[in-house]
Amino acid sequence: MKLVLLGPPAAGKSTQARCLSKELSYFHVSTGNIVRAHIQAGTDFGRRVEGYNRRGELVPDDLIMRMVSPNLEPAGRWLLDGFPRTLDQSLSLDSKLDGLGLRVTRAIMLEVPDDVLRERIKGRRYSEATGWTYHLEHAPPPQPEQRLDPGPFVRREDDDPGVFRKQLAAYHEEIPSVKKHYEERGILTAINADRHPDYITADILDSLGFNDRDVTENSVRLRG
Ligand code: AMP
Repeated sequence: MKLVLLGPPAAGKSTQARCLSKELSYFHVSTGNIVRAHIQAGTDFGRRVEGYNRRGELVPDDLIMRMVSPNLEPAGRWLLDGFPRTLDQSLSLDSKLDGLGLRVTRAIMLEVPDDVLRERIKGRRYSEATGWTYHLEHAPPPQPEQRLDPGPFVRREDDDPGVFRKQLAAYHEEIPSVKKHYEERGILTAINADRHPDYITADILDSLGFNDRDVTENSVRLRG
């Protein structure tokens, strides 16, 4: 299984990716986390992409492709979160996979209205230790005694409303062609993501053909 998770910023892609990788033992590849890790570590890539990230602009396709490629283990089961975001990225991914005799198996599109997204970023927090995303109200960071994630939990630089507006505009400009690309291949599944995360995970698992018996004892069991 090679999955891609599409959706606007703050749609809950990383929350879903985290649940799905736990349920199905997928390797979670988040391009946003890769970008932030390079910036934090001050690498050459980090210096080149810092400005784009701060301004809420997309990193150029060739750079992002070079950052993501080493993470696409051919034999592995992986889940791409936040990539591809442009048609060029989708085509580059296809051609890289073609060369390995592989293809994207499914594209999951998380759909959330813009006004809900604007509210969500106000409470969003990012763990500098794990790269996981939380929400102060809906999915609060764990308490220190739980020892799940030491944090610190910070507001992302791009959670500024002006930056977010730009990210959302870029998303609406680019996503129709990405969506069409996967629709034409008959592998696109759209999911209403304006709901509690557990319901969304359940729907995604369902759409992938997994039922309650296939997933671990931690699986969500909200249906029925
Ligand atoms: P995210 O955490 O997915 O919201 O991504 C944060 C930032 O990383 C974006 O605003 C872009 O600057 C950059 N980025 C992440 N993924 C991509 C991508 N697929 N293409 C271009 N830029 C990206």
